[in-house]
Amino acid sequence: MATNRTFTMLKPDAVENGHIGAILEKINASGFRIVALKLTQMTTADAQAFYAIHKERPFFNDLVEFMTRGPIVAAILEKENAVEDFRTLIGATNPAEAAEGTIRKLYAASIGENAVHGSDSDENAAIEGAFHFAGREMF
Ligand code: ADP
Ligand code: MG
Repeated sequence: MATNRTFTMLKPDAVENGHIGAILEKINASGFRIVALKLTQMTTADAQAFYAIHKERPFFNDLVEFMTRGPIVAAILEKENAVEDFRTLIGATNPAEAAEGTIRKLYAASIGENAVHGSDSDENAAIEGAFHFAGREMF
């Protein structure tokens, strides 16, 4: 059953480039309710665990290094059809292929440093949200 929640991270590039406010505004304007929100930094072990599914991929070490180099904004978002609608809002993994107006098209520089994460399933949204937030941090 769909949970109507998804998990996102505004990645270190988005934070470094001063895009937190603009991206949160776009998320709000697109009808998502913020359930949980914080500025935090992943350790190497955190990033390796979070992205464990990609551990055999050639870009894995670069991804872990990128995701740990500075703070991120982690958030849980709520909306009907949240996972799919948020993937549409962020656009393709490679910003060069992302649709006009999507967050990655607007704010991402490359396929590696692509500004934002969005869960790919309801199951992963729940796992990823619980990875970053305690129950008392969800509203
Ligand atoms: P998405 O974030 O769109 O779900 P994936 O789950 O396939 O994409 O990959 C996770 C993250 O790994 C991407 O968001 C991106 O930061 C990085 N990544 C994916 N593919 C590549 C690649 N070919 N080269 C470098 N980094 C990549
Ligand atoms: Mg993914």
